[in-house]
Amino acid sequence: MKLLSLYTIILLLSNIGFTQCPVLPTPLVYQDISGELILGKSISINSKGLPISARQFLLDKLSALYTIQFTESSDFAQLNFVSINQGASHEYSMNIDKEIVVTYNSSESAFYAVVTLIQLFSENNGDVVIKKCFIQDEPAFAWRGLHLDVSRHFYTVAEVKRFIDLMSLYKFNKFHWHLTDDQGWRIEIKKYPLLTEVGGYRDSTLIGHYNDKPWKFDVNRTGGFYTQEEIKEVVAFAKSRNVEVIPEIEMPGHSRAALAAYPEFSCTENQLGVPGYWGVFEDIYCSKAETVEFLQDVLAEVVELFPSQYIHIGGDEAPKNKWENCIKCQKVMKKNNLKDAHALQSYFIQSMDDFLSQKGKKLIGWDEILEGGLSTNAAVMSWRGEQGGIDAANMHHNVVMSPTNYCYFDYYQSGNSTEPLAIGGFLPLSKVYEFSPIPNELPLENHKYILGGQANVWTEYISNFKHVEYMVYPRAIGLSQNLWSETKPSYDEFLKVFRRYHEPFLERLNVNYSKSIYLPTITLTRILDGVKFNVKGIDEQQVYDVFTKEKGGLSMGGGHVMGWNDSLYFERPPDGKQQHIQVNISAPTLNQDVATTFCLHNGLGLHIELITPPHPKYNHNGSLTLVDGVKGKRPWKGDDWLGFNQNKVEIIVDLREEKSLKDITVGFLDAKGSWIYLPETIEIYAEKKPNEWELIRKTEIQEENQKIELSGKASRIKIITLPIVKIPSGEEGAGNIPWTFIDEIILNFAE
Ligand SMILES: [Zn+2]
Repeated sequence: MKLLSLYTIILLLSNIGFTQCPVLPTPLVYQDISGELILGKSISINSKGLPISARQFLLDKLSALYTIQFTESSDFAQLNFVSINQGASHEYSMNIDKEIVVTYNSSESAFYAVVTLIQLFSENNGDVVIKKCFIQDEPAFAWRGLHLDVSRHFYTVAEVKRFIDLMSLYKFNKFHWHLTDDQGWRIEIKKYPLLTEVGGYRDSTLIGHYNDKPWKFDVNRTGGFYTQEEIKEVVAFAKSRNVEVIPEIEMPGHSRAALAAYPEFSCTENQLGVPGYWGVFEDIYCSKAETVEFLQDVLAEVVELFPSQYIHIGGDEAPKNKWENCIKCQKVMKKNNLKDAHALQSYFIQSMDDFLSQKGKKLIGWDEILEGGLSTNAAVMSWRGEQGGIDAANMHHNVVMSPTNYCYFDYYQSGNSTEPLAIGGFLPLSKVYEFSPIPNELPLENHKYILGGQANVWTEYISNFKHVEYMVYPRAIGLSQNLWSETKPSYDEFLKVFRRYHEPFLERLNVNYSKSIYLPTITLTRILDGVKFNVKGIDEQQVYDVFTKEKGGLSMGGGHVMGWNDSLYFERPPDGKQQHIQVNISAPTLNQDVATTFCLHNGLGLHIELITPPHPKYNHNGSLTLVDGVKGKRPWKGDDWLGFNQNKVEIIVDLREEKSLKDITVGFLDAKGSWIYLPETIEIYAEKKPNEWELIRKTEIQEENQKIELSGKASRIKIITLPIVKIPSGEEGAGNIPWTFIDEIILNFAE
């Protein structure tokens, strides 16, 4: 409830009393020295011995960001680099006071020192200045990775270089280049030119979300690929940024683009096109000797282009139906005494592992490659949660942690309706910041097998590079902190540093970073007669204009100015009445409104007993979610909704006193691509005596929000939903029990 003049106060506050370390990820040791060293318009450098690429990077970046000249000096200068070559660590230190002295003991640490310096520069009254401080620093984890999928959407060489350039400014050192998938093959292979000529292009691309039926397509031909010369150019550029490029050639699944070019390497040998939609496809590489030879030919060219120790071979999401029905695959199984198709996948991966070992390389793959055994050299990238990584480390394989719930940057960053369409899932910056590459359950002696962590940027819904930047920043900066050191400042401290120093830095770099952190955090809690709607901004200064109005009725409530921790209260209406209130929140720092519609119904805020527990991943705000007045959002964004992966879902609603029942509407989600189905039937019971239930309605579910007429009286009712038995064949997740997602049980009593 504040006045607009607050914004002036915010500006004043942000300029005083800042002693936090401006560098992200935060260095191991940071000691503030009061004030700034003023360099003006020029700086003398003594860079004897500094690796050429690190020196060039420093000069290029500073002259791009600031108006400054450089002069090389052989004597003591304003900026001095000293190589100390001690030990094997990648440590550096710097003292910035009357002049700048940087010491480092490897070419890697020289680069880290340069990145730290670049972050410490700023401009003050037209002069280039640098913050005075002492820093001593080295990384905790050897693998600090970002991945980019260039198959679902293609990005140019210049864009890929910019991706690498930006990540290097946050000390990432591994670029995982996802070069092949169903929707496009992006790397030139001389022996098999059709891989790019045919597999590099598709005739159409799905518009909207995979879950939206009927599907619509953009029928423009699209695609592209990198020549081997371009690949070398990117690898060399990355090296100059202290980044190693790890190529991924997917097998045996996610191979439709390759099979469109060479159908003879599939089981059926049928000619299929390059698909323009997403998902997991049943047609995969056949395990026959000809295909193994083809893939090894491909890998032979790949290993020549990439100096990295590891080569990623995918290994995830390979349905086995085709293998189980293929005479050639069955022969391979028989000949090698393999008991099932999973053992066959293991055998297939093993043959790639042997081949890469002969070439002096090591294999890395997604955690599915663990199923059926793995050679000791191979490493595992754990994506389906942390368990794969824990198992692999306990088996003494090297591991890169990349669990979906912390590291999938294709997930939504906020629940706001203005977020661009994404695959689903919910991963705000605050959640990324909680990530630790070392899983809690991993015994201490096996910590050494965790190389580090990585975020993955899958691009089904990311059609241009500006959008890539939006999805990656600032989340990558939060991740860099977890990969650089095992201790870190609190999230609030991190946010202050990010806002004070790194937003201006990203602005100077012209990065299209997401500003979703400025959206209000909305919390709903149960109160005796309804729900409390609490709004919290990013800090105590942030205020929002909040408007409420009744839908289809007279204006009510009107405008409020809400800020740090203010609340509105919504009460249950009298029996038989229902009200729809629209709440609109304008965030002044954004050009975005957050709109929420409340359905105030007779069940609002009632006590709910969840006999069937929701899956912990999809248990947003517990049982209140079902009666908080807010219907789950569509498309599904990973928040709202309670998700159940059980055979039946059983819920009790306590009506507090005996009520005459009129109708109930239970909201279900129908998102088949995410394995979420409408239940088949719903049963409603009324409690006759304590825990004695009488079935009062049973009906089939036909639609997402189905109104069910009720009669009689009850003070507690029970809802039971029964899903279809299995996901039908031919659909995503065929054979599994479907998920049931419920949000909002709208109750209506008789007047
Ligand atoms: Zn086969």
